[in-house]
Amino acid sequence: MKDCIFCKIAKGEAKSWKVYEDEHAYAFLDINPVSKYHTLIIPKKHYENIFDITEEELLKVISVVKKVVSLYNNKLGIKNVQIVNSSGAEAQQDVFHFHVHVVPRTLGDNQNIKWTTHKEWRETFDDLLAKI
Ligand code: 5GP
Ligand code: ZN
Repeated sequence: MKDCIFCKIAKGEAKSWKVYEDEHAYAFLDINPVSKYHTLIIPKKHYENIFDITEEELLKVISVVKKVVSLYNNKLGIKNVQIVNSSGAEAQQDVFHFHVHVVPRTLGDNQNIKWTTHKEWRETFDDLLAKI
């Protein structure tokens, strides 16, 4: 994809801080980190998000997620991470080249992923499942 920043990063045409790469995937530091070693893992080929990436490519990306987390665990002793993917504008995706965030977390880091839960929606579960 011509104007995709992550395609340019994967090809070495735009500056990035590389953590790891193999034939299929590339891992680099997020330019706006929310914690130390906040990392993005992308397929080298362009896919917009979870909806169009093939299962085969997804498995390759996830295998690099595991490698990066193991690296951080072994070298830095990191033991707490959040692994996040946003797919679609309404799901707060900003860059439309599939990517997985690895966000190391520490006590008192002032970050907080907080979902609003709706226990009362349990009564709709049977209807929801009937539709799929
Ligand atoms: P999203 O909101 O799509 O899940 O996340 C996109 C992420 O890409 C953001 O955290 C943002 O900081 C990061 N990002 C956007 N442009 C660049 C860039 O040019 N280089 C790097 N390293 N990260 C970027
Ligand atoms: Zn791309």
